[in-house]
Amino acid sequence: MSAAENRPEPVRDAERWSPESWQGFPALQQPVYRDAEALAAAKAELSRLPPLVTSWEVFELKRQLAEAQEGKRFLLQGGDCAESFSDCDSTIISNRLKVLLQMSVALVYGLRLPIIRVGRFAGQYAKPRSADTETRDGVTLPCYRGELVNDAAFTAQAREPEPRRMIKAHARSAMTMNFVRALIEGGFADLHHPEYWDLDWMRHSPRAADYQHMINAIGSGVRFMETLSGTRIHNVNRVDFFTSHEALLLPYEECLTRQVPRQWGWFNLATHFPWIGLRTADIDGAHVEYMRGLRNPIAVKVGASGSPDDLIRLIDRLNPENEPGRLTLIHRMGRAGIARGLPPLLDVVRREGRRVLWVADPMHGNTENTTVGVKTRRFENIFGELELAFDLHAAEGTRLGGVHLELTGENVTECLGGARDLTEADLARAYRSTVDPRLNYEQSLELAMLIVRKRGV
Ligand code: PEP
Ligand code: MN
Repeated sequence: MSAAENRPEPVRDAERWSPESWQGFPALQQPVYRDAEALAAAKAELSRLPPLVTSWEVFELKRQLAEAQEGKRFLLQGGDCAESFSDCDSTIISNRLKVLLQMSVALVYGLRLPIIRVGRFAGQYAKPRSADTETRDGVTLPCYRGELVNDAAFTAQAREPEPRRMIKAHARSAMTMNFVRALIEGGFADLHHPEYWDLDWMRHSPRAADYQHMINAIGSGVRFMETLSGTRIHNVNRVDFFTSHEALLLPYEECLTRQVPRQWGWFNLATHFPWIGLRTADIDGAHVEYMRGLRNPIAVKVGASGSPDDLIRLIDRLNPENEPGRLTLIHRMGRAGIARGLPPLLDVVRREGRRVLWVADPMHGNTENTTVGVKTRRFENIFGELELAFDLHAAEGTRLGGVHLELTGENVTECLGGARDLTEADLARAYRSTVDPRLNYEQSLELAMLIVRKRGV
């Protein structure tokens, strides 16, 4: 049998795949809904609600990701570890958008590449957990799985999985998307007005002079082009913005999996770019089954312990036609693990000729607990892993095509270090995440500037 005959069937083979076919596979990280009727009613309602994105946006992102695979673009993907319903707030949403836009401007300028901007929001409401239950003072309750499923408060009522939360999450996602689209259309990202951007962080940053220089250079570049052409440049005030989330809660994703006129196959229209988390990336599991049938571009998280052969099998299951732009691999190995874990994977994917976009998540392999048990990450380890990622790709002849970050536009104190050198004592001041620690506004921009310093042209 040739290698091609060995490959799994392509996603066109609708008989072997449907939006529900995942139900025949082991599904990890799913809540136990006790009221089957309530679940069925919520699913029926959700299946009739409008989608959040369109198939042509999904195709446009796939096209851009294909270009990133060729080194013609760079992906910036970032947002909260988990959104909460109360964070569906105009200030929080616009600050998060602002920090992503500012980072992307630094990256465009420094890397001389168009940036694909993807938010980790408008649907990032479900969380994988390390245990199904949590015990405090002798009381054991179901774990908190994100607001798509239950509530973080430690009471039996709060922790009971509630199907109607899926309807609420869909509505909050739609409101978030609507506001983001309106801001972008309204010129929020206009390079003519860098003075609108909050630059307060600069005063404390060792990168202040670089950042000011960059802003001045962009402003004079725009003015110069306008003088030359005699017209105002309009495409500097509008950018593309895409959304992503971890496709974790499969009943929710199933209900937003839709067909569209004049296209074959199925799309997840809850988001442009769903990903499979590390804990649910088993090739024989329900999440891989669900994702293989979508026409969206998809991503999968990759840890340090998987074998090269397993990775190739997973790639072939998720992208049997080796389609450009289809598959992104997000490695998250930790500063201490990446030098050993990454090269064999880069090597096999290159040798076997599989098309993927390699992206680094320098957050999830660098989580630690402080002496008083607070979950945190050190800025130096986050940047340290990213630097190693760039170097390891260069040594293997592959390309790091993007970064995946947990960040917020708020002035939280969740990660240690950065320009203001946050200490353990600072963490108590503004630690708001109910799940993983995020880079704050200053730390995020600082990181973008350091990437530019490392890779800039
Ligand atoms: C996450 O992205 O929040 C996450 C849980 O990551 P991973 O699947 O890489 O552990
Ligand atoms: Mn996380």
